[in-house]
Order: sequence, then structure tokens, then C-alpha cells
Amino acid sequence: MTPARKELIIKGLGVSPGIAMGVVYMRESGALVIPEYTIKTAEIPAQKKRLERALRTAKRQIGRLKSKASSLPAKTGEEMSFLLDAYGQMLDDSRLVRGAYRRIEQDRINAEASVQAETNEIAEGFATLDDTYIAARIDDIREVSERIIRALMKNIVKPLDTVPKGSIMISEEVTPADAAQLNPKRIFGFAAVLGGAQGHTAIMARALGLPAVLGIPSLTRLTRSGDTIIIDGSRGRVIINPKPATRAAFEAKQVKQRKALSRLARLRRQPSITRDGMEIALSCNVELPIEMPGVLNAGAASIGLLRTEFMFMNRNDIPSEDEQFKMLGNIVKAMDGRVVTIRTLDIGGEKLAQALINDIGETTQSALGLRGIRLSLKKPELLEAQITAILRAGALGPVRILLPMVSTTREVIKARDFIKRTALKLKRKKIPIADPLPPVGVMIEVPSAALTADALASVSDFFAIGSNDLTMYTMAVDRTDEQVAKLYNPLHPSVLRLIRFTTESALKSRIPISVCGEIAGDPRFTALLLGLGIHELSMSAHALGPVKQRVREIEMAAAQSRADIIMSQTDAGRIAMLLDDFNAPV
Ligand code: PEP
Ligand code: MG
Repeated sequence: MTPARKELIIKGLGVSPGIAMGVVYMRESGALVIPEYTIKTAEIPAQKKRLERALRTAKRQIGRLKSKASSLPAKTGEEMSFLLDAYGQMLDDSRLVRGAYRRIEQDRINAEASVQAETNEIAEGFATLDDTYIAARIDDIREVSERIIRALMKNIVKPLDTVPKGSIMISEEVTPADAAQLNPKRIFGFAAVLGGAQGHTAIMARALGLPAVLGIPSLTRLTRSGDTIIIDGSRGRVIINPKPATRAAFEAKQVKQRKALSRLARLRRQPSITRDGMEIALSCNVELPIEMPGVLNAGAASIGLLRTEFMFMNRNDIPSEDEQFKMLGNIVKAMDGRVVTIRTLDIGGEKLAQALINDIGETTQSALGLRGIRLSLKKPELLEAQITAILRAGALGPVRILLPMVSTTREVIKARDFIKRTALKLKRKKIPIADPLPPVGVMIEVPSAALTADALASVSDFFAIGSNDLTMYTMAVDRTDEQVAKLYNPLHPSVLRLIRFTTESALKSRIPISVCGEIAGDPRFTALLLGLGIHELSMSAHALGPVKQRVREIEMAAAQSRADIIMSQTDAGRIAMLLDDFNAPV
């Protein structure tokens, strides 16, 4: 019998609260089923391009792992760093890479199969040398080769529905597309080497109520499939092989947390109203249809943000207009007369869709690139299918259209014009659509949009402040990069000034304004946002109870005067102190 492994506690970034216990499911383990097919001469350049992209992805992963390794204890960090350097060099230029390119051309086989064939040939050659040092090198080559193949297969859907019930997923990285596949009935929580608190993976974990800890450099080295494991997403801890006493302590904590949640759930029937009678609309953000029962249960006023990216993830083709209509229509019907704010596609940045990458290429991976409305306006066929689906869903219940990543008024004018023309076409074909046409609103999430909110208000029917991106772009901090996570601060005066100017512009133009970034679901920010004049907040269903509780404690006059004091400050630390002091129970 193998001796029981020692209990190990490792620290990371708690990105989704709660405690989960289960058995380790290693995401990257298990044999890869490598697709192998012959290609036509005309397909050679496309396969070479796929390989080129996969090499770039693998190199990027190695770079990120290397910077993570620097936070490990000196000796381990140094060893890992050497190894990762060697992997990086292999990806730059090596017999493996050269051979793979050659095989695509000469053997006319797909990129995955060429990498595999070249790896096998190198391994066979090494095996005849009878040298232990060289034998170890073949493991490194296999590691690099597997990484390239996984990158090539990255967006080929790897279903997670066969994962045993009660698993905790451990992975090098969980992308938003991976997160979109997580079924909370089977996977109780997850942890990963890479990732930050503000990325969409973290947002989805919170939306699904899955405890998660990210950014743990040693994670995949220290865990094995079958280990028992606890994820403490509230404190950012992972406990591998917990002792019985540790387990019992966490079980007790879990019971306590569940009780607190059910206490908050009782607020469901209570109005969302401040102590002095101001009604605050609490709405829900939805990333995945699986969240709908939670949204209906939470008693949301409306859906303040429906992210439509889920329809495009984990598939190699673009969903037809009819498919989109069905998915959106189901959500609209489920809301039974309450408004659904449907955001047009915001693929780009960290949210990727293979079908679109094939079409557009790498540029989408840049947060400053072809993202959101920019992509939609460049690809009218994509926008037309989406607008048609939204307008048709609007015949089933009230909808609003929300445009993401707007940076100029021209984009809004163009999009509105496009919506009108699409509606006209549908009317001519006698297809039932929303009548009158849905309001068209703008996400304020780019500094240029916030700074020209007065102009944008004249061409928009409503505003939704996307504080996640607004903070990222204002502070110039990638929201997915844990190395600069400390600089990501929505309480920085620069961000708050943009929020204030946007709110004042909306109020002056008498258009509705809400906040749908993550700060809307954090009770720490509630008094400040209310004090700034925002009366609608949209958040994940899990956050509704805690935020409603906070709303019911607030006096508007006091919140406004604290917001005034805060807005006269220039130091983010002092702002945080003034806010926390205001929030502290008396
Ligand atoms: C935001 O940026 O605040 C937002 C709500 O949009 P997303 O998180 O989807 O980018
Ligand atoms: Mg955004």
C-alpha cells in the first residue's frame, strides 16, 4: 500500500468565494486523441499557419509560466526557469519544429499529425543511443510536442461532461471557453496555475457559484489525479490531501457559509429600497443559460447584461441566425415580461472563438484590437445574423440592445443605422420582430467613451458602465495578468472620475444608466455607486442577496455626501479608507 501523502496547503488568488471539496481531476492529463488526416496541396499554407499560431500560443504559455515560476522558492524557481527556457528555445527553432513544417508539405498531413510523427521519429533515434541524459531529453521533447498539439487542438471542444461527479478540476489554465463548459453538478470547484481575478474565467466561476483559486505556480507539480483536495475560494487556499481534522474544520465552515447564503436568499421577497425609500433596480448578468434558474430564483428586476459570447464558444462554426434566435428567445421567454438587455458579440481579447479566429486571425487576441463593436461593424454578416436574432427574440418579450467596446459616437451611429436597416428587411419579409424597435444602449468601458459620455448620450438610449474594462483601459492593466493585478483598482480616482462624468452626462440627458461590471455585485461599492447617482446595478445572481442587504442599510443623503467627499480626493488609498469607514457597521 502506498503511504498516504502529506497534507499540503498552497496559496493563490481566491477569485470565486466558497469552499469546495472533492477529488482531483487533472485537466491536461490523459492521452490525447490526435486527429490525423491527409490534406490537399491547397491546404498546406493553412496547416502551416495553424502550426505557426500554435507555436506562438505555446511560447506565450511558456513565457507566462516562466514569470509565475519566479515567485517559487529560489532553487525550485531556478530549476523550472531553466527548463522553461529550454522549452522556449525548442519552440523557436528545433528539429521538432522544422520537421513538423516539412511533414505538412511533404507527407501532406495535418499539423497535429506532423508534430506527432516528427516526435516519434526523434524518440526512436534517441532510444538507440543508450544514454540516460539523452533519454531524459526525449521527455522534454515529448512535453513540448504535447504542448504544441494541445495548442493546435485548443479550440476543438474537449467535453467535460464525462468528468466524474465530485471532481475538482486542476489545470495549467482555464480559459473562458473551458469555464463555459463547467457543469457545477459534476465539477465542484477548480484551481489553475495561471489567471487573475478580473478575467472572464473568474467572472464565470462566480456566476456558476464555483469556488476557484488561480495563479498558483506549483499547482500542477504538487497535485495528482485522485488526490483529495479542498478549494477555499474565499481565502485563496488549496489544501491537498487534507488531514481528517482539516476536513472537518472546512466542512463546518461550508455549513456556516450555506446558512449565511440561505439567510440572504430570504431577502428575495423584500424590496430593494434604501432606508429613505429610494428604489434601486437590481438586475442580473448572464453569461450562460445554465444560470437562468438562479436568476429567476434571485428575483432579479431584469437582465442588465446578457453576454452573448457563450453562443460562439466551444464550436468551430458560427451559430446560425436561427440558432441564436432560439437561444435568446428561450431566455426572453423565461424572463416573462422583464427586460433582457442583450449585448452584441464581444469576442476578442481573452474571449476567443475558433470559428472567428480562422476568419480574422490573431488580432482578436489583443485587448486593443478588433474587439466588440469594432469586429461587428467589420463583419456585417456576423452583425446582421445577431441583430436579426435579437429583433426576433424581441417579438417574444422586451429586449434592449447593448453595444460593447464603443470608443466613438460614429460607431454608435453606424450600429443604429444597421439595426434600422435590418429591421426594415425583416418587416418586408413579414418576420415578426420587436415593435417598437428596442432601445439601443452603449457600454461605457473605454476611457474615450467615458470622456465623451455627453456626446454619446445624445446618440444612445441608455448607458451601462463596464467597470471591468473601464478600470483595465484607464489603468493600462491587463485584467487577466496576475502580475499587474495589484494595479487594477476601480477605486482609483481616475476611474471614479470617469464613472462620475458618465453618470452626470446620462442624468443630464435623462437616459437610464446602470453599472454591470463586477463592482456592481460587490457590496463594498454599493453606497459609493448610489451616492454617485446610479440607481441600477447588474450582477451575477449570487451577488443579488448581499447587495440588496447593503442597499437596505443605506441612507441616500449620507451616501451622497460620502460620495462627494470621496470625489474630492486624489489618493486611492484614502478613498478606500473613506469608503470602508462608511461601510463599517456602526
Ligand atoms: C465590463 O467590462 O465591465 C463588462 C461588464 O464587460 P465584460 O466583463 O464582459 O468585458
Ligand atoms: Mg467589458
